[in-house]
Amino acid sequence: MSRYIRPGTALAVVGFGKTGKGVLDFLLARGGVNDFDLCLYNDTPIDEPAQQQYKQRGVTFLVGENQFMRLADVERIVLSPGVDGRTPRFDRLRQQGIEIISEIELAASFLDAGANPIIAVTGTNGKSTTATLIHHILKHCGVNSFLTGNIGTPLISQVEDISGNIDAVVVLEVSSFQLEEIIDFRPYIGILLNVTPDHLDRYATTGDYFSAKLNLVKNQETCDYLVLNHDDPVLRENADKEPNRWGFARKLWFSRSLRPPGAEVSMWLSGETLYLRLKNNGPKEGVGVEKISLRDNPLRGVHNLENIMAAVTTARLLGAEPTAVENSIPCFKGLPHRMESLGKIGNVEFINDSKATNVDAALKSITSIHEPMVVILGGKDKGGDFKILGPAIKQRVDKVLLVGQAADTIRCQLGSLKMEKVSDFDEAVEKGCQILEKKGGVVLLAPGCASFDMFNNFEHRGDVFKEAFLRLKQAKQKKKKD
Ligand code: ADP
Repeated sequence: MSRYIRPGTALAVVGFGKTGKGVLDFLLARGGVNDFDLCLYNDTPIDEPAQQQYKQRGVTFLVGENQFMRLADVERIVLSPGVDGRTPRFDRLRQQGIEIISEIELAASFLDAGANPIIAVTGTNGKSTTATLIHHILKHCGVNSFLTGNIGTPLISQVEDISGNIDAVVVLEVSSFQLEEIIDFRPYIGILLNVTPDHLDRYATTGDYFSAKLNLVKNQETCDYLVLNHDDPVLRENADKEPNRWGFARKLWFSRSLRPPGAEVSMWLSGETLYLRLKNNGPKEGVGVEKISLRDNPLRGVHNLENIMAAVTTARLLGAEPTAVENSIPCFKGLPHRMESLGKIGNVEFINDSKATNVDAALKSITSIHEPMVVILGGKDKGGDFKILGPAIKQRVDKVLLVGQAADTIRCQLGSLKMEKVSDFDEAVEKGCQILEKKGGVVLLAPGCASFDMFNNFEHRGDVFKEAFLRLKQAKQKKKKD
């Protein structure tokens, strides 16, 4: 039994989204209000019917900011990732001795790390792809694995299923928000893919954001592993400058650009072959070095090479057979809305990378295309620096089409060269197709912004883009027939 829910404890769950509800369901199933007092706090109104099913089971609802101070009566708070706990109102609660933890902290406290090791994947970009790929490789290699966390179902909602499976690996996608309030959370393998400025609407500085990410290593011990991207300048520089912030885990760096590496890099790339040295046998290739072919790599883009390197290293650390690992990669389908090819109209291909919600992701997508290109940028600005796109746009892009709220900001930062504002995706796909019709190329949606100005989420945005593409395709086919 976890130390967090002793009989008699007064607990509050903050936030009534997927995570908050998952925590309530879990706690109620574990004995609920017979064993401890349980309340739910939410800043904004909640429908009465949604409250009823929990109220009937004894949960007290505190709804609206005027109820916040009633949290002073509980002993412990489980915070949903959407709620920022590093604000004065939560600091005041901490000063009163109230312990604030995140859902992953609570969930992990119910798991036996020996039976169900946690593989925690974080980074600004590539988390979902890498976590899904690890899960895919492990399954292919006959390792029982659960894919959970930020990618879909919260860990707390899978604890029961996982605990019944001795030796099942927990592949957990974690965001910086989830890592903010951990205490003992300790992954057996931590994966840190990259850190670039993001979520600056929530973090005062990139340093604060980075510190939250580094919580990943906080409790790791010498028998644990940390898989790191040597090509990411922030990770490399910080590891050099402040080695004592990086915990005790054995570090395995991967690099797609360094070759042949010194002792510091464990995985590198040469042509279409990955080289992996799991034991530090020295820099000479061939000594304890495995080769894994990427000949039939289905994923587009240099960023995906990094994701593959992280995933393969992890799978090998978990004992997956090298040949099975190699065979598993070609049948990985990738995820929708990440460099997803929608098809062609004539010789113009349309790629949906709606999940490129920050500037660095957009940059990676743009630099992954080696054909003439029209890029669709814009959406809800998250405070990103669009100027970093300048050189890539100059070199590679025929035209940038700007949509949404951030259109003027982007134009302001990049100058009006090659830029044109469009009102929606229908106009964007039509213009993009027109521009590339003769020479062929790619129309890429890589917004570099959040989607909430016009859409519910990135999936919705990607779907609307897909529909616009299909409409244009049908219209062109019809025209041809007529
Ligand atoms: P996350 O879960 O971290 O948002 P995803 O795997 O869903 O990551 O990918 C989101 C977007 O980030 C993709 O659409 C792609 O543009 C970009 N991306 C994916 N992997 C990487 C990476 N390793 N480095 C930089 N950008 C990446």
